[in-house]
Amino acid sequence: MTIDLNGVTALVTGASSGIGEAIAVTLAGSGAAVAIHCNTGIDRAGELARRLGNGAAAFRADLSEPAQASHLFGEVVSRMGRIHLLVNNAGIFDPAPPEAGHGKWMRVWDRTIAINLTAAGVLCREAIEHFRREGGGRIVNIASRAAFRGETREYLAYAASKGGMISLSRSIARSFGKDGIVSIAIAPGYVRTPMTAEYLDEHEGEMVEHELALGRMTGTGDVAPLVAFIASGGLDHATGCTIDINGGSYIH
Ligand code: NAD
Repeated sequence: MTIDLNGVTALVTGASSGIGEAIAVTLAGSGAAVAIHCNTGIDRAGELARRLGNGAAAFRADLSEPAQASHLFGEVVSRMGRIHLLVNNAGIFDPAPPEAGHGKWMRVWDRTIAINLTAAGVLCREAIEHFRREGGGRIVNIASRAAFRGETREYLAYAASKGGMISLSRSIARSFGKDGIVSIAIAPGYVRTPMTAEYLDEHEGEMVEHELALGRMTGTGDVAPLVAFIASGGLDHATGCTIDINGGSYIH
C-alpha cells in the first residue's frame, strides 16, 4: 500500500524536534506540504522546511499564550491555504512534586496546562471552524500513556493535561464527525527525544527489562507512520479512538 499525501497540507506543532520532527519528515515524504511550528529555534525549523521542500514552511509561536496559538492557525492558512490535518504535538514535561511548595507547583501546573492542553484546545477550535467551512479535515492529538497509567508524583500536571487531551479528542470525534472531522489521539509510552533523553540515560535499561513486553524502546519512527496513515483517511472509521504505542507496557 502506498500512502499518497500530495495535495494535503498539515500543521504540526513542535515539529522542529523529537516526535514532531519525525511526523513532519514522514508526512512530507508521502507528499504533504507541512507547516513546521516551533517555539524557539526558528532557524532550525526553517532549515528543516528547506530540507523537506514540497511547500513546507516554518512558523513561530509561543503556545503558552492562547492568542499566539490562535494566530498561528490563521497565519498558516494565510501563507499555505487550506489545512487538511492538524497535529497537536507540542508539549512540555516539567517536574514539580507536591512538596515543591505551592508557588512552584502552581507555576508548573499552569504552564503545563497552558501548553499541553489549552493550546491544543485553541488549535482544535480553529481547526473545527476551518474544517467545517472547507469540507472536513483530520486532527491528531499526541497525548501520552500517562493519561491512562498515571505518572509519578513529579508529573501530576503532565498526566492531567494528557488526560484532558484524550477527552478533547473524543469529544471532537463525537460532535463533529458529520461535519467531516476525524479526531484520533495517539498515546506513546517513553520515546527517546530531547524531552526524555536525560531521564532515559538513567532509566532505559530497567524500563526495557521490567515495563516493555516487546523488550525494546519505542522510537519516533514507531509513531510517525501512524500519523501519515491517519492523514490518508485510512483510519477514519477509528475516529474517537486512542492508539497506544508503548511496547506492550500494559500487558504485564
Ligand atoms: P520534544 O521536547 O522534542 O518536543 C516538544 C516540542 O514542543 C518541541 O518542539 C518544543 O519546541 C515544543 N514546545 C515546548 N514548549 C513550547 C511552547 N511554549 N510553545 C510552543 N512549542 C513548545 O519532545 P517529544 O518527546 O518529541 O514530545 C512531543 C510530544 O510527544 C509531547 O506532547 C509529549 O508530551 C509527547 N510524548 C512524548 C513522549 C516521550 O517519551 N518522548 C511520550 C509520550 C508523549
